Amino acid sequence: MTFRFANVEGRSALVDAHGGWFDASRVSGGVVSPDPMEAWLQLDDLHLTAGAIATSEADGHVRDADLRPPIPVPRSVFAVGLNYRSHAEEADMELPQTPLIFTKFPSCLAGPNDPVILGGSTDDYEAELVVVIGRGGRDITPGQAWDHVGGLTAGQDISDRRLQFAAKPPHFDLGKSRDTYGPIGPVVVSTDSFPTPGDLLITCEVNGERRQDDRTSNLVFDIPALISYLSGILTLSPGDLIFTGTPEGVGAASLRFLVDGDVISTTVEGIGTLTNRCRNPG
Ligand code: ZN
Repeated sequence: MTFRFANVEGRSALVDAHGGWFDASRVSGGVVSPDPMEAWLQLDDLHLTAGAIATSEADGHVRDADLRPPIPVPRSVFAVGLNYRSHAEEADMELPQTPLIFTKFPSCLAGPNDPVILGGSTDDYEAELVVVIGRGGRDITPGQAWDHVGGLTAGQDISDRRLQFAAKPPHFDLGKSRDTYGPIGPVVVSTDSFPTPGDLLITCEVNGERRQDDRTSNLVFDIPALISYLSGILTLSPGDLIFTGTPEGVGAASLRFLVDGDVISTTVEGIGTLTNRCRNPG
């Protein structure tokens, strides 16, 4: 049974096709942990429990819920730079021959409707598909890789461009890890929900204006290649996130950076929309 996994007020929840949410611990009779990180280790139970929500009464609707990051404290958050040809061209950068991996520190994660607190005058948006590792491991081959994906979610790789390139040589991590720079959600959708999980429409709008519009089948290094590459170097753990890169249309390319009051809407087909309002600090 496919599932849509959410974090409502810090508790693991399952969401139905109409946006009703169900406390996963309640519906499973206490089998699924209320803690989202522990529940994520119970993938088989999540699949089973998703079958039980059809005959259960919803605890509420997601539009009224306090949604937090569905995976709130992953061990690692990887991200990939220049992973769409079109974005590498607009950035005037050479297409990488090796995946360009950097870290978003897990403390930057935010809920799907949380505000983004601006860091300066060069804050930028990057709509991304985010892979959630289900089963960890080392030396995973591309052919095995999808078996290690527990689900997919949407994410924003918010970037402070000045900070991203402040050091020489540039070191992306901190410029992409300010508090609130990693909204994810609204749900993690189990991989078996997608007829073609490697080919999803991804879009980003700022104040209703379409800025990014592409398909994840245009990734330079696709999801199996990224999992194989990373797991050849280190051990992937359940709940690890991989931000897979952003298509063309970022603000830096047109010098239209985010300002106070801007609303970023990030949508991935089959998953949903993140809505994040930008705010000045203080
Ligand atoms: Zn990115």
